[in-house]
Amino acid sequence: KLSKRLETVAKYIPRDSTFADIGSDHAYLPCYMVKRNAVRFAIAGEVVDGPYQSAIKQVKQEGLTSKISVRKGNGLEVVETNEVDCITIAGMGGALIASILENGRDKLKNVQRLVLQPNISAVSIREWLLRNNWTLVAEEILEEDGKIYEILVAEKGDSSALYETREESAILFGPFLMKERNDAFVKKWNLEKKNWQRILAQLEAAPESEENIQKRKELQQKITLVDEVNKS
Ligand code: SAM
Repeated sequence: KLSKRLETVAKYIPRDSTFADIGSDHAYLPCYMVKRNAVRFAIAGEVVDGPYQSAIKQVKQEGLTSKISVRKGNGLEVVETNEVDCITIAGMGGALIASILENGRDKLKNVQRLVLQPNISAVSIREWLLRNNWTLVAEEILEEDGKIYEILVAEKGDSSALYETREESAILFGPFLMKERNDAFVKKWNLEKKNWQRILAQLEAAPESEENIQKRKELQQKITLVDEVNKS
């Protein structure tokens, strides 16, 4: 059985598409999609040998070698241009996901949809999407086993309308997530706020310096954004 987190990623992979799952580890997501006949073909990409071998083993065990190609390589280098309609990248930091997209930009020309699940720093992905003319079409946030996960779904297009008002908040919190403000969202940002307050208190006790003042200001601003989103 797939985790709730990966099931949510799966929900956004278009039916009958071909997709590449980058950083696939055991290839659970490609196996799940192919077994359900939900996609035509899948690629499982892995850069590290251990997980790459796990993916090969899993795909063989499930008898899916004709429908899943397991490939070893860094990021999008494992896909050819025109090969897939959809790319999923799950279970890594947002900055790493953004750098994989940035380094593989030429492979994205004919990709219709990205389904991204950062463990931290979704903001890095929203910034990348905005700069590269991809627009969010959906977002989810959920809690599983005490951890909170975000899923960002993007398609090509201008996203300035999404960020028209309160741009800074929308990029940090997610334009869809901050509208919905479900329990996982409230919990996540109150935890972040507590953490920032703790760091702020440490900085206040430390000797004054330009850097210290600057960092305090940034933290204050983020705390204010959380207070605002809680009230809105
Ligand atoms: N996607 C699976 C999931 O969400 O359950 C596995 C997540 S696992 C924590 C992250 C995987 O990404 C690791 O197996 C790691 O080797 C792989 N990875 C990290 N950077 C990568 C890159 N640049 N290209 C391909 N795979 C990468």
